[in-house]
Amino acid sequence: MSTSNLSNAPLLVVGAGIMGAGIAQVAAQAGHTVLLHDARPGAAAEAISKLAKSLDGLVAKGKLSAESVTQTLARISAVGAIEEAAPVRLVVEAIVEQLDAKRALFKQLEAIVAPDCVLATNTSSISVTAIANGLTHPGRLVGMHFFNPVPLMKLVEVVSGLQTDAAVAEAIFELSKAWGKTPVHARSTPGFIVNRIARPYYAETMALLQEQAATPAVLDACLRAVGFRMGPCELMDLIGHDTNFSVTRSVYEANFYDKRFVPSLVQREMVDGGLLGRKTGKGFYDYAEGAVRPAISAHVAGEFPQARRLCLHGSGPVADRFAAALGAAGLSFGRAPASSWVGIEADGAQLRLTDGRTAAQIGAPAAAPLGTQAVEVSSTTSESGRGVDVAVFDLPLGAEPGAALAWSVSPAASAAWAAAAPQWLRAAGFNAQQVADAPGLVVARTVAMLINEAADAVHQGVCSTEGADAAMKLGVNYPAGPFEWLARWDAQGVITVLEQLDAWYRGERYRVSPWLRGQASLAASRSGAGA
Ligand code: NAD
Repeated sequence: MSTSNLSNAPLLVVGAGIMGAGIAQVAAQAGHTVLLHDARPGAAAEAISKLAKSLDGLVAKGKLSAESVTQTLARISAVGAIEEAAPVRLVVEAIVEQLDAKRALFKQLEAIVAPDCVLATNTSSISVTAIANGLTHPGRLVGMHFFNPVPLMKLVEVVSGLQTDAAVAEAIFELSKAWGKTPVHARSTPGFIVNRIARPYYAETMALLQEQAATPAVLDACLRAVGFRMGPCELMDLIGHDTNFSVTRSVYEANFYDKRFVPSLVQREMVDGGLLGRKTGKGFYDYAEGAVRPAISAHVAGEFPQARRLCLHGSGPVADRFAAALGAAGLSFGRAPASSWVGIEADGAQLRLTDGRTAAQIGAPAAAPLGTQAVEVSSTTSESGRGVDVAVFDLPLGAEPGAALAWSVSPAASAAWAAAAPQWLRAAGFNAQQVADAPGLVVARTVAMLINEAADAVHQGVCSTEGADAAMKLGVNYPAGPFEWLARWDAQGVITVLEQLDAWYRGERYRVSPWLRGQASLAASRSGAGA
């Protein structure tokens, strides 16, 4: 099967719902003759007239020419009997998300279309391998997973099941490109790429909510500061908690109840209570008319506090950012570039970039609590034997001045340090948002987990690193791909945060991907070789 086989091939789209109609539109706009079929009589014709209306609207706005719309619509026709589709060379299925229904449809289709007709499924969660089971030619069945709304979203996950012919996957890959999409290859595993790698974006926020570490508004603001278009809470409210919960649950169940994917009781309760988000008027936020969205405290720049002895620890982009801010304020400070931590030491008190430990753990006079991995190099015990005043701040991935940044202080720290620590952050240009002293704060733990999940997907052959990056940026509009974040951080840093989270919580959620460990070893041996 070659690409040229499918370019301009007549195709059948089965299922004239939201996805089927979008797929029909994109295929017709790319020049294909499209037959649209739906089990519900009249549904395909209705979908075409709805499409005509929306395309006319785009003509009125000057986004499409009347001529191109006439041509697009002339290429699409509704078919009442699926048998009328016998001559097509490609079928794209977008029917109800049920294995039995999809299997039965493809079996029926095999008796109608030619043996070399490609069969594609738009399933978002069902195993492509399982859908192909029972077909006479299972090699021609492939996943062609579009994202909603189909005409706008660029990503197509081209999903290969165990028996999918590589040439068939390649033909769909090339066809997707011809349709103006960015395809990525994926192996048929639960959640494919996007729905799997995205799980921690929701899960880490819900874990923090469950332990009352921060409010939805603060969590959303901290993650929006990284460049996410929507914070996790507002996004779950938009998706609908029922839908989001059921995807999480299906990934969890499909992974044999791997604790890494365990759904949240917080969301379960919201679903049980009918607080489904925007569609029911209430989720994390209230959508009733006139309801006021809780705001976070605004950024107030302010000046750096006074300090007799000031030292900037560590090196890299975060240390550089502080160095620039301190320098601009005309402060004189020492540097400890080889320090084991990054941040500011002011008269012995420490404001540190999170390494996954809580401020209390770092500030405790004794060694870290039993079971934690020792990553500390410098002493945190003051001469008096009391702990050191410690506050930690989150990974500042957001570049905007005044970006929200989570921080926490050890409950054992002095009141003076608890008041001064956020002033240092504000003066350095961050909108400091205090959260409970939770390990890994907000961004560091979320991004570490997104990287970790992506690393496992690569390790298990689900996708390539480039595929994962493209999928997350195009499928869910992430501001960067997980491996792009990794390139700005470093594998050992991510591992350290994950190990601290694992030591704190126990369980399987934070186990480190072997792929990441491999990258860290590689980096260590390279730097050893260079030394
Ligand atoms: P939908 O409910 O809007 O449309 C499904 C259509 O299929 C309906 O018109 C229904 O009458 C028809 N149908 C059901 N069984 C049929 C059968 N046996 N033969 C012919 N027609 C049949 O659903 P949707 O949101 O368009 O989703 C369709 C598929 O796309 C599902 O597999 C879904 O998981 C997947 N998907 C959905 C989204 C999304 O955001 N909605 C995104 C990606 C993938």
